Amino acid sequence: MRFEHETLAQRVRFATGQAPATICAEVQRLGGSRVMVIASADEADLANEVTADVPVVLHHREVVMHVPVACAERARAAAVEHEVDVLVSVGGGSTTGLAKAVALTSGIPIVAVPTTYAGSEATSVWGLTEAARKTTGVDARVLPRSIVYDATLTLSLPLALTVASGLNALAHCVDAMWGPRTDPIDQALAVEGVRALAAGLPAVAADPTGLRGREQMLYATYLAAVAFSSAGSGLHHKICHVLGGAFNLPHAQTHAVVLPYVLAFNASAAPDTERRIAEAFGATTALDGLQALRRTVDAPRALRDFGFDEADIDHAVTAIQEVVPASNPRKVTDDGLRQLLRAAWHGADPSQLTRRDN
Ligand code: NAD
Repeated sequence: MRFEHETLAQRVRFATGQAPATICAEVQRLGGSRVMVIASADEADLANEVTADVPVVLHHREVVMHVPVACAERARAAAVEHEVDVLVSVGGGSTTGLAKAVALTSGIPIVAVPTTYAGSEATSVWGLTEAARKTTGVDARVLPRSIVYDATLTLSLPLALTVASGLNALAHCVDAMWGPRTDPIDQALAVEGVRALAAGLPAVAADPTGLRGREQMLYATYLAAVAFSSAGSGLHHKICHVLGGAFNLPHAQTHAVVLPYVLAFNASAAPDTERRIAEAFGATTALDGLQALRRTVDAPRALRDFGFDEADIDHAVTAIQEVVPASNPRKVTDDGLRQLLRAAWHGADPSQLTRRDN
């Protein structure tokens, strides 16, 4: 066996119901005395509550999805002006993304407090947008030094967004199985992530106010993000990156819709991966497991429901072809990709994409 795996240096604390004291302790460990709290206006009350005992010099509220460069510049200038020494981000991937943009140019350490299942807190990937073009990169400075996961902070996330965001985490797991740098460690984390999401998501859908399911989901979110960050973007993420960046589709919902189509497309060409995902779901096939979960939690179904225009499919095919990973288990032809996007646009049965000749 030969492979290289880099483990990212980061403290992770699971602290259900104890975010305030845990955040305080993590800020202290970093020697923080001038903290900038980044949280959107909608999460302001939550952020104020959990940072009540932290030495805050600035509350920054301007959080915009996909981190426009102008917003990043304003946040960076504010951090310099207030001589900030630690950033605390409280929110979803957009909020973590803004903290990363500040850390990218300043090196200021981040304590990330996630309130969705996007997983950005466990990756060293940053993203910025300018003139509708999304740029991403990898830089060790943007990896939060500490993560504080407190499931009580996710209780306010509406169920539909919880489902979409949980399926975003599931997409990290599935894509990590065949990402360009995937290795046995990534795959072990990813299948455990699938197992925990297959248990956690239905538990939350059945009882959105219960904590056990949400804890399972946060645990899976972390595993998923670590695996995905190490394995790199596979076909699923390349498709969603193009759809989100060029057509401005919502992040979590796009992942939730596209996942079964990519799984169906690749499964027959990656039988070992398919079997491991099926086992993690406790299902006969990986697609059966995913579709049963999607039915249980009433998952988003079709790209046409999220503002994607059928007339843009050919344009999307061209853009995706430029970034398809060479390592994808099944050859991706223009026709194959067009069929995949058409099926996802309609919300059609994904099993029609499964290749039957092997
Ligand atoms: P988001 O952060 O945009 O949040 C979605 C919505 O949920 C917002 O309206 C927000 O206010 C609300 N919300 C968040 N937490 C809530 C809570 N607990 N209660 C009620 N409402 C809440 O969406 P997201 O899906 O978390 O993140 C998407 C962004 O993250 C995208 O820009 C994506 O590119 C980025 N991302 C980056 C990485 C990475 O590794 N760099 C990984 C995943 C996602």
